Amino acid sequence: MPADPLGTPLQYLKGVGPRRAADLEKVGLATVEDLLCRFPLRYEDRGHFASIASLRPGQRTSVQGEVLSAHVRPTRRPGFRIFEMVLRDASGSIRAAFPNQSFLKDVFKPHQRVILYGLVELRPGTGLQLASPDYEILSGEPGAEGVEADTDHTIHTGRIVPVYEKAGTMTPKMQRALVQQALQTLGPAGTEVDDPLPAALQRTLGVPARRDAFEATHFPPAGANIEELNAFRTPAQQRLIFEEFFLFQAGLLLKRRKQRTERKRRSVVIDDRVRDAARAVLPFRLTGDQKRAVKEIVDDMARPEPMNRLLQGDVGAGKTIVALLAALVAMENGMQVAFMAPTEILADQHFMTIRRRLEASRFRVAALTGSVPAKKRREILAELQAGSMHMVVGTHALAEDAVVFRELGLVIIDEQHRFGVVQRAALRDKGTNPDVLVMTATPIPRTLSMTLYGDLDVSIIREMPPGRQPIRTSARPESRREEAYRAIRGAIEQGRQAYVIYPLVEESEKVDLRNATAMAEHLATAIFPQYRVALLHGKLKADQKDHVMASFAAGATQILVSTTVVEVGVDVPNATIMVVEHAERFGLSQLHQLRGRVGRGSHVSECVLLYQAPLTDTGKARLQALVDTNDGFVIAERDLELRGPGDFFGTRQAGLPTFRVGDLGRDAALMEHARREAADWIATDAGVAELAGRLRQQWKARFGLAEVG
Ligand code: ADP
Ligand code: MG
Repeated sequence: MPADPLGTPLQYLKGVGPRRAADLEKVGLATVEDLLCRFPLRYEDRGHFASIASLRPGQRTSVQGEVLSAHVRPTRRPGFRIFEMVLRDASGSIRAAFPNQSFLKDVFKPHQRVILYGLVELRPGTGLQLASPDYEILSGEPGAEGVEADTDHTIHTGRIVPVYEKAGTMTPKMQRALVQQALQTLGPAGTEVDDPLPAALQRTLGVPARRDAFEATHFPPAGANIEELNAFRTPAQQRLIFEEFFLFQAGLLLKRRKQRTERKRRSVVIDDRVRDAARAVLPFRLTGDQKRAVKEIVDDMARPEPMNRLLQGDVGAGKTIVALLAALVAMENGMQVAFMAPTEILADQHFMTIRRRLEASRFRVAALTGSVPAKKRREILAELQAGSMHMVVGTHALAEDAVVFRELGLVIIDEQHRFGVVQRAALRDKGTNPDVLVMTATPIPRTLSMTLYGDLDVSIIREMPPGRQPIRTSARPESRREEAYRAIRGAIEQGRQAYVIYPLVEESEKVDLRNATAMAEHLATAIFPQYRVALLHGKLKADQKDHVMASFAAGATQILVSTTVVEVGVDVPNATIMVVEHAERFGLSQLHQLRGRVGRGSHVSECVLLYQAPLTDTGKARLQALVDTNDGFVIAERDLELRGPGDFFGTRQAGLPTFRVGDLGRDAALMEHARREAADWIATDAGVAELAGRLRQQWKARFGLAEVG
């Protein structure tokens, strides 16, 4: 069997030399398949010809006719020449101008039949013209007359045309030509090409063949529906997107299936002793959701295969106590626990909470972060290795080689999306298939959750602990800053504390952001001289940070000016007001997380979002979403809708796969469908081995993720 044409290197295409091939490779395009999987951004209908007499300025349109004259015209600017031609149809004639393209004098000759597509401009003094239109020559040789217009084989004009995003030095027009060649390498319509979708599934789904789907996606047949194309809803487009999602979901599910065959060293046993120990550390009654989550987790821990569970719950929902109970169960069963948090502040805070709770138990917990002094660190490492330290709470320092456990049974990872795959795996590998509980306070829309966490079981805490008051949120232009200050003053007079959040630490010359440092100064001296104001930002040394946080937590500082380092987990219930500067610059989910720093006690809390006017419509809609609801899941859905998945997490999400043709925002329903079909397919067990083989090859390259299982 000949090698599959989809694997043909692009260099074999006409017009692609080594230079261009290298250039294309830089943007991820190495083979014919890569090129065909680079969808158009959009489509333009150039299949309808306007009569020249009917043209109006501002219109983008196709015209078809005969070249009357063609010549290069010099201009007053030295070296600047314009190629001009005049095109005639039955109704009239129009000029087309191509600045700086003198070479066209060798392309266009009188009497050729051509199609032009472009913008109609009104030139003062000279009348209407087409500005640098795309063109296609229908009757080849200059002077050939009477040739019938044949628009079947045009690719740039005279049809629905794909418009691509520029890639490296490849222009949209070049890509069109390359794609056409690439399609030719696949053979005529109906030819079979390598296809990740199992044949039986293709039959049940009734999808078009892969080769034909590529063709119809890039060069839609005459009569195709342009709206459907631009919504990426044609059967051909959907087939290719589905195929990508199917492969992805199958990978996740196979990974999960493999995990189920793994065995941990020991499973936990729950008896009255364990139950009493849990009761002893509980400072309050669990909510219904917390109870359910604890049960799901402990049930997993009692099974022979390792737990892989995500605990999802909005900020303040009370995930820490759930994690602590799981830790206690593990420790009561003679196992050690590692708890990893993304920042030192968070690790310390978890450590403090956990140590306080564990005072009622016989277990010992240590903190391990980058700032633990060397001697102390050595002691902790020795105790972890010996098993006399039962639990350790820390940052990514936990994933370092030097950290060795005697028997690591449970790994807890807070805000897991902040860690890379490698770090998570490194920590997990310190035990023998330990139970893994990951937590996130970023409520995630279903599609994203299914994509990011498709290989995990999920527990969700939606219900807030009792007595929580919803946070009153308002959005105001900066010009109403005085109102925010008044609100801060009011809260502090009641004995409460305040946060003021800034998006950056250092002023950048380009961006008009207020400098947190300067602003803290200003607040401390000019606005609130009677209160204690402190500044927290990522560039402070760890001990300075600790000092600032501790002083705020103790109530000694009344106003904490901070960058987003307080974003996750920080817990000071007495802080009841937050003012966010430049709210328009934050992601919606990030704002929601920030806001979660207040409203953690029994007092009514308030959040003021100051923005720089004027806002865009999307900007308005985003802030309004926060004003409207406190439900993180609702906000997450809005955020995904308004910004798309790439920006959903504010920063590029570690672990979020990059799809070539699918779009998680646009194609959510297809992802769900793909997951169902992948689950069914794997359950039948037929052809699964082949699929797994393909996935092992492609998983990393296609989705940028670690290998399957
Ligand atoms: P998060 O889910 O954001 O990590 P935490 O675990 O930090 O939330 O909990 C937020 C606050 O709510 C903490 O002060 C915690 O002690 C308190 N809390 C959690 N669960 C309950 C509960 N069932 N009843 C009362 N307070 C609770
Ligand atoms: Mg937390």
